[in-house]
This record gives sequence, structure tokens and C-alpha cells, in this order.
Amino acid sequence: MKPIYIPKGAAKEYCNYALNIYTGCPHRCYYCFAPLVLHRNKEEFHSHVEPRKNIVEETRKQIEIYDIKDKLIQLCFTCDPYPTGYDTSTTREIIKLLKETGNHVQILTKGDGTRDFDLLDENDYYGITLDGTPTTDLIRANLNSLAEAHSRGIKTWVSFEPVTDDKAFFVELHLVSLIVDHVKIGKLNYFPSDIDWADFGKRAERLCKELEIDYYIKDSLREEMGK
Ligand code: SF4
Repeated sequence: MKPIYIPKGAAKEYCNYALNIYTGCPHRCYYCFAPLVLHRNKEEFHSHVEPRKNIVEETRKQIEIYDIKDKLIQLCFTCDPYPTGYDTSTTREIIKLLKETGNHVQILTKGDGTRDFDLLDENDYYGITLDGTPTTDLIRANLNSLAEAHSRGIKTWVSFEPVTDDKAFFVELHLVSLIVDHVKIGKLNYFPSDIDWADFGKRAERLCKELEIDYYIKDSLREEMGK
């Protein structure tokens, strides 16, 4: 088992290395691709969440054998490092291990990672997903955690992928503009949407420039913009 891996395709646009800590994710995003990628039953994926077997030990072994250091590693792609309602102490152990061995983390969550901010520094990224679906309370909590990370000197980022509500996107981009170091913007794929992606992409890019936000537009949205 090699828990640290090199993502492919659209996932590679996020990070050069990744590690998935849990077997499932309770957040039930309707567009979640993880059960498909993992060949898992959707209901089981969302309801059965535990750390992957020996994940910390196997990661330690891999780091030692392959002398992995100075890598920025995404936590996670096929799960959330902070699955709401579950024990996430394994995430803390993984972050400790990665930092102790000279690596860095790029966290992406819909949960709450504030407990582990003491382990992070200016070489790490703490990120949240804003896709236009969360409740006001959840957005507020996530923005609070982003602001706290920013105030501690941890790099911050937001994944606006997939955009499910273009109006919400423009409001949220303004909201994070002063506390975010980087944003990624991607379209909703494989599900119906009435968003005019070419127009949306151009307006999104223009606003990022106006607000002086470092941004990356995912390839599938960039393709639409070129049409
Ligand atoms: S947070 Fe990510 S892994 Fe979890 S359900 Fe949503 S898309 Fe899937």
C-alpha cells in the first residue's frame, strides 16, 4: 500500500501529490464522484466512514522507503480529512507525520479543521469548498475557519468547484477576497446546469483580476470559455 500517490486528470490540477485518509465521507454532496472512482456503493460510502487500515503506519513506511520530503500533499481527494461527526484524530496523526518528515499539506474540507491549526505553518494550505450548496450557518463556520487560518499565517485557499450557483459564487468570492491566497474555479460536470459557462468563466476571471486574487480556472471550464 502506497498512501501517497500522484493524482491523474482533473485531480492533478489540484496538487501533485495526494493522500486519502478515510474509507468514506458523510457530507453527501450530490455531485460526489468518489464512490464511482472507488467502485463503491454510494450509500455505503457516505455511511461507513473510518480511517483506512493502518494508514498512518503505511504512510510512515512509504515516506521512509522512498525518502519523501519537501512535497505538498493534498488531504484528501476521495474523502474529506474532517468528516463531520466522526473521530478525526487520524488526520492529526497524518499531518504530524507529514510535517515531521519535512512535507507540507494542502487541506480541503467541508468540515472543521481548526483543531489542527497548531500543526500548520506558512508552507501549508488550509482550504474550504464553496460550491453554492451549503447552508448559511455552514458557510459562516467555514469562513470563520478560513479567516482564523489566514490570521495565523497559514496559506488559505478556496475550491469553487463545482460551481452550482453562479450568483452565490460572485457573493462568496467577494466574501473571501481579503482572507484567501488562492482560489480554484471549476464547472459542474456530468450534472445538468443552466449556467452559461462561457459567460460565467469570463466574468469570474474578470472579478478575480479586479479583486487581485490569485486564481486557477480548471481546464474543463477554460475549454467552455474558449468556445
Ligand atoms: S466532501 Fe468531497 S468526498 Fe465528501 S461527499 Fe462531498 S465531494 Fe464527496
